[in-house]
Amino acid sequence: MTEQSEQRGPIVGIDLGTTNSVVAIVTDGKPRVLDESGEILLPSIVGINPQGQLVTGVAAKNQLAAFPDRTVASIKRRMGSMEPVSLGDQTYSPPEISAMILRRLRDRATRAIGQPVNRAVITVPAFFDEGQRQATREAAELAGLTVERIINEPTAATLVYHAGTHDRRQIAVYDFGGGTFDVSIVRMEAGVIEVLSSHGDVRLGGDDLDMELLNYLANAFQGLLGVDLRATPQTRYRLLQACEQAKCRLSTEETVQIAEEFIAEKEGQPLHLTATVTRQEFEQLIEPYVERTIQSVSEALRGAGLTIHQIDDLVLVGGSTRIPLVEERLRDEFLREPSRAVDPDLAVALGAAVQAAMIDGRSVGPVLVDVTGHTLGIEACVGMTMMGPEMAFSPIIHRNSPLPARYEQAYSTMHDDQDAVIIHVLQGERQEVHRNRSVGKFRLDLKTGGGDNSKVVVRFDLTLDGILKVTATQRATGLSKELIIDNALSQFRADARTEAESRLEDLFDASDELLDEEDVPSRKQWEASDEDLGMPGTIHASSSDFPEAVALLKKAQSMKESVKGQDAQDLESLVKNLEDAMAAGEVAAVAVLASELEDLLFYVR
Ligand code: AMP
Repeated sequence: MTEQSEQRGPIVGIDLGTTNSVVAIVTDGKPRVLDESGEILLPSIVGINPQGQLVTGVAAKNQLAAFPDRTVASIKRRMGSMEPVSLGDQTYSPPEISAMILRRLRDRATRAIGQPVNRAVITVPAFFDEGQRQATREAAELAGLTVERIINEPTAATLVYHAGTHDRRQIAVYDFGGGTFDVSIVRMEAGVIEVLSSHGDVRLGGDDLDMELLNYLANAFQGLLGVDLRATPQTRYRLLQACEQAKCRLSTEETVQIAEEFIAEKEGQPLHLTATVTRQEFEQLIEPYVERTIQSVSEALRGAGLTIHQIDDLVLVGGSTRIPLVEERLRDEFLREPSRAVDPDLAVALGAAVQAAMIDGRSVGPVLVDVTGHTLGIEACVGMTMMGPEMAFSPIIHRNSPLPARYEQAYSTMHDDQDAVIIHVLQGERQEVHRNRSVGKFRLDLKTGGGDNSKVVVRFDLTLDGILKVTATQRATGLSKELIIDNALSQFRADARTEAESRLEDLFDASDELLDEEDVPSRKQWEASDEDLGMPGTIHASSSDFPEAVALLKKAQSMKESVKGQDAQDLESLVKNLEDAMAAGEVAAVAVLASELEDLLFYVR
């Protein structure tokens, strides 16, 4: 901290969100969020309790259903308007309500740091106009905070990943929160971050997904029992909370049970709600919303005058980006793994803290947390061909997932009377099983006969130390077996993340060169064309059928000079063998040799 800032106190970074707010600060060169009794996210809600006292955060959220006219949520949507807001028997301006949230954050920070806090960097959406920014400034001043700078949320999210980066990078920041969605295309050059374009929908967020699930369950309940759970505010709110929890659990679990006892009454008899929702059912409900966000991505790119191939990095922000379908669609669209090392709820606040430290004259590096460097999953059947079952790699924990990570996936047996399954655990990024690293295998004996015994749930728990616990459970019987793999992360620790990322980027860049810019196939098409290469031994491929191998050879050529000793000899013989295999159109051999070459190039960098 500079001498001047010591006199004036520290600067905190504040993400003043529609749903939740977060305060953070840089200490020892690292941004960290400031909590209050373990609570990190402060719900952006204020209220007057029955005793006439002001309540904020969780306390206000808890009274929202019971006292809606004494509680205000989502004030951010009204910033910039002069419309009075009623709270109990008083009315306030939107900045006054926001100031109540900011005041609570300021107190939290003061307690956590142990010294008075009166300076802040505050984030706002890129699409906020001058009036909305001014209202935010006023709110801060009312809360006793001097605003050192108002920065755009996507700028903050970019800073948290790329502070200190001087290379030119173009980044898409996809922010899917509770109440709003926006995507921004950001250019970073010589440390300056510029938002090139933003597109979004201020009425699209996780709340809509909760409502979809609520309507789905309420319709089913009404159809069965003739009672509409939406009819009374309390019941509706209770169901809504259950739906939000179920939604969040479906991000890591394949199926959830919803059980709300005594939720309603009919002719004096209590009614209970019990329902099972699968991830697949939920995904069907929310797909139109996710598609709308993807359309926004295209609009934002158009606005920035860029194509998807000119994007170097995809940063995820907001709690709703934890939904697997969202990530999957983005992965397909951007042909790359999103950066997820930083908690999507905290990225904006942490970035604001980084900006605050920079204003204070302190340098901060990019924030890296431990992530998995490679995807982990199992071998699974994806269809039947004339030659028998078609096996492929089925990812469970995706590359770049923050650690510790826990994900599960449900699979079906191939036949109803199957009495065992083999769980073959793989690490890698390839669809073809043999192009990934085998890290373990075990057999789970299944019970057959009587009911549906076909579902097997496979759970992966990966710790910070790289210990992977794989548990396979027959859903109907609970029969279960587990395997512990001690070194699942092996060489792919967090410090390898950056290299791994640029390695992938190089590959994509190189592949792009081989194709007409307008004509680059989607990842799905790539995968399909990989499969189309044929079975081992089929000789009908030419070198242009191996774009990945060609790109690798190009890369090997450019690195040749810097590789020495045994590595150089290995490189030379691998390159030769690969060229020979390509010339002969030996598809299987090309796949194996390309994978070996890729590994070698990675380790000799
Ligand atoms: P934010 O506005 O960024 O605080 O995001 C809040 C939204 O993210 C709410 O709609 C939450 O229900 C949603 N959310 C938080 N965690 C998850 C999760 N694990 N899966 C799905 N949605 C989530």
